[in-house]
Amino acid sequence: MSSKVPPVILNNGVEMPQLGFGVWQVPDAEAERAVATALEAGYRSVDTAAVYENETGTGRALAASGLPREELFVTTKLWNSDQGYDATMRAFDASLARLGLDRVDLYLIHWPAPALGKAVDTYRAFEKIHAEGRATSIGVSNFLREHLERLIEATSIIPAVNQIELHPRLQQREAREFHAQQGIATEAWSPLGQGKGLLEVPAIVAIAQKHGRTPAQVVLRWHVQLGNVVIPKSVTPSRIVENIDVYGFELDTEDLAAISALNENRRLGPDPAGFNVT
Ligand code: NAD
Repeated sequence: MSSKVPPVILNNGVEMPQLGFGVWQVPDAEAERAVATALEAGYRSVDTAAVYENETGTGRALAASGLPREELFVTTKLWNSDQGYDATMRAFDASLARLGLDRVDLYLIHWPAPALGKAVDTYRAFEKIHAEGRATSIGVSNFLREHLERLIEATSIIPAVNQIELHPRLQQREAREFHAQQGIATEAWSPLGQGKGLLEVPAIVAIAQKHGRTPAQVVLRWHVQLGNVVIPKSVTPSRIVENIDVYGFELDTEDLAAISALNENRRLGPDPAGFNVT
């Protein structure tokens, strides 16, 4: 099946599918099957990371799909322990080798890890990798405004993307506004709030019933209408199919207001200001 997912246009003119497939916590041995199922269902964008230890299985599925390379959008991320110019160059080569690719579409600094003090040097290596044509776009993940400002001040390429935790309980309004001002696309991780309770919230269930859709589809549709890039994860084939089927309905102003009211500024993951784990 070909993809029905429309793209967002990044600040360098590159098209990125607005909805992709995330593979965090999918063991390498399972990743090949899960990514193959996603590609079959029409996903063309896959989000992995060195620290997920499933770049190999992900790469196998991409190769086995027979899809032309230019139809795929592959993201991977640099782990904290590899920050720094030389270490980044080595880590990127290792990621490409595991993926079996000669370029990625998007390479992200996984966390700012401010206590390491290496984000600028790391990003200079990213600029070199981009100049070599080995990462079509470069960006960051989990960067707070202060981290972005420091990076933009010290380097030449504005990140194409900031991938941050974002779901109805953590709506990240200020961050999204700042990204929009800077031309940075906002990509939502844990877009379904990891499924934990969010999909049973009565307001979301009611909107789902009204549209004859599932709660997961309502939440993903909310992201799409907000303009977020979104990368839901599932290893269950029926859910993989369900999660990409969000282009045949529209939330109205009343639905959007009801979801807007669910914001609690509550994180499921670590606060990037103090996360320096290597
Ligand atoms: P998610 O919000 O996508 O939730 C995934 C979970 O929700 C599944 O494990 C399942 O339990 C449930 N689920 C999925 N589809 C469902 C459906 N249709 N109905 C009911 N339940 C469903 O959580 P996530 O995996 O944490 O985030 C998605 C992706 O974001 C990851 O796979 C990864 O690629 C990325 N991510 C990035 C970072 C980062 O630091 N950059 C951190 C976490 C996740």
